[in-house]
Amino acid sequence: MSETKQAAVAAAGAAEAVDNSHSLLPTYGRYPISLVKGEGSYLWDDKGNQYLDFMSGIAVTNLGHAHPKVKAALVEQLDQLWHVSNLFRIPNQEDAAALLTANSFGDAVFFCNSGAEANEAAIKLARRYQQKVAGNGRYEIITFDHSFHGRTLATLTATGQEKVKEGFAPLPEGFKYIPFNDFAALEEAVSDKTAAIMLEMIQAEGGIHAADEAYVKAVRELCDKQGILLIVDEVQTGIGRTGKLFAYEHYGIEPDIISLAKGLGSGFPVGAIVAKEKLREAFGPGSHGSTFGGTPIATAVVKATLETIVGERLPERAAQMGDYLQERLKQELGANAAVKDVRGKGLIVGIECDGPVADRLVAAQKLGLLAISAGPNVIRLLPNLLVTKEEIDQAVAVLKQVTAD
Ligand SMILES: *Cc1c(COP(=O)(O)O)cnc(C)c1O
Repeated sequence: MSETKQAAVAAAGAAEAVDNSHSLLPTYGRYPISLVKGEGSYLWDDKGNQYLDFMSGIAVTNLGHAHPKVKAALVEQLDQLWHVSNLFRIPNQEDAAALLTANSFGDAVFFCNSGAEANEAAIKLARRYQQKVAGNGRYEIITFDHSFHGRTLATLTATGQEKVKEGFAPLPEGFKYIPFNDFAALEEAVSDKTAAIMLEMIQAEGGIHAADEAYVKAVRELCDKQGILLIVDEVQTGIGRTGKLFAYEHYGIEPDIISLAKGLGSGFPVGAIVAKEKLREAFGPGSHGSTFGGTPIATAVVKATLETIVGERLPERAAQMGDYLQERLKQELGANAAVKDVRGKGLIVGIECDGPVADRLVAAQKLGLLAISAGPNVIRLLPNLLVTKEEIDQAVAVLKQVTAD
């Protein structure tokens, strides 16, 4: 055993925390902050410093940290049953699915464990429907420049950003990328090979860029005319974040499939796709699966999360608080020369600056505010849906200071 390994093992259980960060593969550039406790909109580090959390994981803890109803549901389920195979009925999973279908366009749900896994399922379902049900052999998925769909081989291939693909060749075939909000480019790209079009209603990782309403309506019509499936990636925009339960609701259209994850489990890892009736038979027994998909624990948390968000009309609250946040940002930061734009919908808001924002985010942390970037030049704000006006005012005061020069 190496000396570092011995030291780390010896330290396990010791009162003094040791730095075991070298034991992790360096997939993330990590801030030197160790967060150890969370409640509502606040987090605390191991030194006792308090932070106002305007990241929510990354759009994950939409009900804030340790929401009492979700926590109670989780603890109750921990006492009952943790895991059984999907070869048995799981009542929580059926109830959680029914909540998703009752509150969306959809008719049937598949549960998995992450956003990438949800998009992987959406891609597979679209291809399998075209090949096995429609019987037309179509396989191509059209996605968009600056999109983000995940880190598995298929979903990083679907992602319209070169940097996530570097060093991972060969990539799966059958993906095509076009500019966002450009209908002529889409008309040119579709062919008798096109199985599905997959898009975000607001490109989040791509810098907080919303799809135009007329564009989305035209995309839906094109899909209907040509038998193409419309997949909307709601991994980040879903679960009340944009002021509707799902972002597609702003556009007056119905997708064929949506993918969900982040906010769905309030911090418990879970993903899902919701699909229209005609897709049901494409995913018969043996076609797709996931050992941990929709466990009794995960779906107890999903149920409590959805019941709270829908029951307490939190999407409406997110819309109101989001309007307040944007209005205050425009008032307070408008005179700062570094600020080029404030945009977003509900509680996903971007502040575009005149250059990289990494140092501004660190400055905000030092003043007790956690926010994240969306691309190099945009500060992204993702507070929880229960955020108060006072907390928004506090955040705006910090943001005014860190964008001042
Ligand atoms: C985060 C994200 C994903 C990937 O989700 P993971 O849970 O990290 O796999 C996919 N699509 C969008 C839009 C996302 O924001």
